[in-house]
Amino acid sequence: MQQQEKQSLSQRYQKIRELLDQLAVPNQAPQLLVVSKGHSPDKLRHLYTLGQRHFAENYAQEFWEKKQALLDCPGIIWSFIGHLQSNKIKKIVEQADEIQTVGSQRYLELIAKAARECQRLPYPVWLECNAEGESNKHGCPLSELPQLIAHASTLPELRLMGLMCIPPQDYQDSEEQAVPALYQELRRLADTCGEARLSLGMSGDLRLAIAAGSNCLRIGTAILGARS
Ligand SMILES: *Cc1c(COP(=O)(O)O)cnc(C)c1O
Repeated sequence: MQQQEKQSLSQRYQKIRELLDQLAVPNQAPQLLVVSKGHSPDKLRHLYTLGQRHFAENYAQEFWEKKQALLDCPGIIWSFIGHLQSNKIKKIVEQADEIQTVGSQRYLELIAKAARECQRLPYPVWLECNAEGESNKHGCPLSELPQLIAHASTLPELRLMGLMCIPPQDYQDSEEQAVPALYQELRRLADTCGEARLSLGMSGDLRLAIAAGSNCLRIGTAILGARS
C-alpha cells in the first residue's frame, strides 16, 4: 500500500470513530464492524495496526482467502454477513465467529447442527430482518420475526445476539434526523431477541442508526472507499 493510501484510510477511519464518540450515548457506543468485501487484506492489516479488530465478510470464498492472508494478525473477530448456502454452513460456523444473516428456521437448525459438530457451543447468531419484504433480499419478514425469535430461543446450541437489518435503499442520513418508524419497531423487537442487540447502520445511514439505538454498525465504503 502506498503511503498516501494509508494516510487517507487512517483519516476516514478516525473520522468514523470520532463520529461514533460524538453521537453515541457515553459508554454505549455501538460496536464498529468494518465490512471488508471487495477490499485487499493490506487495507485490513492497516486498520488492524490502528486498533480495529472486528471485520465482516459477505462471500465464503473471499472470506477464507482473506482470513488466511491475515493469520499474522491475531485476535481478529470475523462476522459473516452474506447470504447463506446450506452446503457452506459448516465451514462458515467453523471459520467465522458469528453469523448475522440468519433469516429462517431451516438455517437456524442447520447452524445449530454445525455448531454441535464443530464443538462451537453456543454459537452466536443474529436474526436478519427483511424490512421491505422484497423478493430480492434475504431475511425474515418483519411480521414473522416474533415466531423466528421464539424458535431461535429454543435452540441451546445458539447464542441469540439480536436482530440485524439491511434498510430500504432510501433510508439515508439527511439534515432532519427523525428516527423512522421502521427503526423504532426494529429496536422494540430487538429488545425481545436474546441479548437484545441491534445491528443497524451502514455508510449511508449511520447517524439515523445511532439515533435509533443501534448496537452494531456495519461500515464498508465510508472507511475503505469504493469497492472494486
Ligand atoms: C456491504 C454491506 C455493508 C456495508 O455497506 P457500506 O454501504 O459499504 O457501508 C453492510 N452490511 C451488509 C450486510 C453488507 O452486505
